[in-house]
Amino acid sequence: TQHVHKANAKRWDHRLTEEAKARTGSSLKEAAKYLGQPGLISLGGGLPSSEYFPLDEIKFKVPALGHFSAKDIHEHGVVLTAGKHDMAEDKSLFDIATALQYGQGHGAAQLLRWIIEHTEIVHNPTYQDWSCTMTIGSTSAFDITLRMFTKPGNWILSEEFTFPAMVESAAPMGVKVAAVGMDEHGMRAESLDEVLSSWDEKVRGGPKPFLVYTVPTGQNPTGATQTLERRKAIYAVAQKHDLYIVEDEPYYFLQMQPYTGPNAPDVPPPASHEEFLKSLVPSYLSLDTDGRVMRMDSFSKVIAPGGRVGWITASEQICERYSKHADLATQGPSGLSQLMLFKLLDEHWGHAGYLDWLIHIRMEYTARRNVILEACETYLPGDLISWAPPMAGMFHWLKVEYRKHPHYGKKTAIEIEEEIFHKLMEHGTLLMKGSWFRAEQELAVETMFLRATYAAVPSEQIQEAVRRLGAAIRDSFGDAT
Ligand code: PMP
Ligand code: PLP
Repeated sequence: TQHVHKANAKRWDHRLTEEAKARTGSSLKEAAKYLGQPGLISLGGGLPSSEYFPLDEIKFKVPALGHFSAKDIHEHGVVLTAGKHDMAEDKSLFDIATALQYGQGHGAAQLLRWIIEHTEIVHNPTYQDWSCTMTIGSTSAFDITLRMFTKPGNWILSEEFTFPAMVESAAPMGVKVAAVGMDEHGMRAESLDEVLSSWDEKVRGGPKPFLVYTVPTGQNPTGATQTLERRKAIYAVAQKHDLYIVEDEPYYFLQMQPYTGPNAPDVPPPASHEEFLKSLVPSYLSLDTDGRVMRMDSFSKVIAPGGRVGWITASEQICERYSKHADLATQGPSGLSQLMLFKLLDEHWGHAGYLDWLIHIRMEYTARRNVILEACETYLPGDLISWAPPMAGMFHWLKVEYRKHPHYGKKTAIEIEEEIFHKLMEHGTLLMKGSWFRAEQELAVETMFLRATYAAVPSEQIQEAVRRLGAAIRDSFGDAT
């Protein structure tokens, strides 16, 4: 067999904060390493005895392999059982007594192993010392990441329209977000280079940033997906300026079938797991030769957000610093969530069954996306509203020609947006204002957008909401069509 030599990741000591470098983790958790000694009786760890966990057995119903509709799950679902002492009784590799006990910040070894295998199947990282650490979701993972890499007065970089929670996490830490220009393929590499090359510390009041936060696939709010060429171009800029990339990918597996238009036949689903995996745009993680990427994955959009389980993939150095922080903050995700996920993903579905589930989700979102696009083509005035068909995620981003609004020139763009927003509410439909997603609120507003999601309501309601949107826009623009 051929020996493939993989290099280790770059070290990031020059980018980590003093806080991140000073974290020693939990001294008491360190003592756990002595528990392996045979015959040892521990009066050490302050662990409550599992005798007092008021749970003996958990049963929950999940989809049988390949039978994924809500009706199928309800009527023909498979009941999985976790017992308190399944490990001692050789029934399972994980049980209630273990899952509900204190554990390490990186999460339980059982589920972590499954996550690492899944990451290898999907991304096959190119450097040697990569690793995964569980998170309680990407919201928290980004909060911890900011504390690992940024100080008050710093700037980070993101798409000019971005997920507001991340800006709102950064702001109270004294960290501002510099907007990078976008097009229909998301963040523009030239704009990233330009923002960095022209960075003026005196004007910005902070040093040149090095942390890029990006949502490469089905971006929130624009729905844009970066092509492979775009990812490579951005990675090259990251190498040029020695940037650290945080890729936040909750929508990675909501990559949909190609959009064929209202009157063309649908594209058949991927015929095999290989075909499915090949249809996905390669991640930054898979392109990362230097170890300059932290990928944030989350079960929120593909299993359920209330489970609060996700993971990061990065170099061992970064994962170790992250889990030392988690040890003293979030600790691992909820034991109940980890136990149920382990039963479902490892013991019941396995990797292949999970890929089947992801293909199911892909087809469901494709159908919903097609419904909203067809409704938009039917009901919206094309001279006032335009869009690009989303290829991934749950968002449809509508551009509004506010310069054609009768109040243009008399009111500011923000005031016109506010007026349109209220007109939508009058007509009984809620969309998000595009301006709520601006990374840099101080910049002049020169475009207007509305964000719609096709994830939340059934098809008939999507159609009705878009019909109301069309009526509200015509009403607001004084039927300028
Ligand atoms: N505070 C004190 C005084 C404790 O003894 C412990 C657990 N050893 C904790 C907090 C940790 O609590 P939690 O499991 O809710 O994070
Ligand atoms: N990142 C983005 C871009 C999102 O749109 C969302 C959810 O809306 C999240 C992260 C939240 O993820 P989690 O539930 O894993 O915290």
